[in-house]
Amino acid sequence: APVCVLVLGMAGSGKTTFVQRLAAHLHGQRCPPYVINLDPAVRGLPFPANIDIRDTVKYKEVMKQYGLGPNGGIVTSLNLFATRFDQVMKFIEKRQNASKYVIIDTPGQIEVFTWSASGTIITEALASSFPSVVVYVMDTSRSTNPITFMSNMLYACSILYKTKLPFIVVMNKTDIIDHSFAVEWMQDFETFQDALNQETSYVSNLTRSMSLVLDEFYSSLKVVGVSAVLGTGLDDFFVQLSKAVDEYEREYRPEYERLR
Ligand code: GDP
Ligand code: MG
Repeated sequence: APVCVLVLGMAGSGKTTFVQRLAAHLHGQRCPPYVINLDPAVRGLPFPANIDIRDTVKYKEVMKQYGLGPNGGIVTSLNLFATRFDQVMKFIEKRQNASKYVIIDTPGQIEVFTWSASGTIITEALASSFPSVVVYVMDTSRSTNPITFMSNMLYACSILYKTKLPFIVVMNKTDIIDHSFAVEWMQDFETFQDALNQETSYVSNLTRSMSLVLDEFYSSLKVVGVSAVLGTGLDDFFVQLSKAVDEYEREYRPEYERLR
């Protein structure tokens, strides 16, 4: 069965660029993926999608019809699409033998997917039929402040618990800044504390305590540095992906089979 790769992350973190890069890489290996775009508001899609939400729902029409703003239009479009997700599942099942990977790009604003009923419906539909992995893309160049970094990791942590799926953190944009500073912060509590000591705001006290909690989360986390623009780090990504798939088979599949 194909592996479903669900790409999540804050707006501008590079999800769409990463999906494009992954797809190009797999095409290069003669292993074309099945690509699904779930962002109804994306303008030019830089990759050919096998299934594109924009072919089914026009979010500007949805805005007009329901009298919604842009955000409401996007949320409602995804809801409308989720009601027909059984058809998407049929398409994926038909392609079982042709594609090893199904790659899913999600709306720019992360909460549209992670904190909506439709996001949950789609995630559970995929994960109860196929090995599924969440890829959390983050903008490394915007996480060099220790407090910002920690906020981002707390968000990642909340998504891990929300989706209940194996999880890979993709530290993107390593062409701007190497992600080694972040890895060091995650591996060595002291260096993170040192970085925090440069901060004097009251938040840093809270952050200090939080980082102790996150230590546990970090210890089992799969982290990969990539540049979606340059295409670096993909080999390591696929190593982590196969580990995540093993984890799915071992720990998550039994849970999802109960849902069926
Ligand atoms: P999304 O909202 O998460 O889908 O983000 P996009 O893929 O649309 O990317 C947002 C911006 O970040 C665009 O201007 C991209 O060109 C840029 N970007 C994405 N990946 C990289 C990267 O690896 N390096 C650099 N320097 N910029 C990137
Ligand atoms: Mg995007």
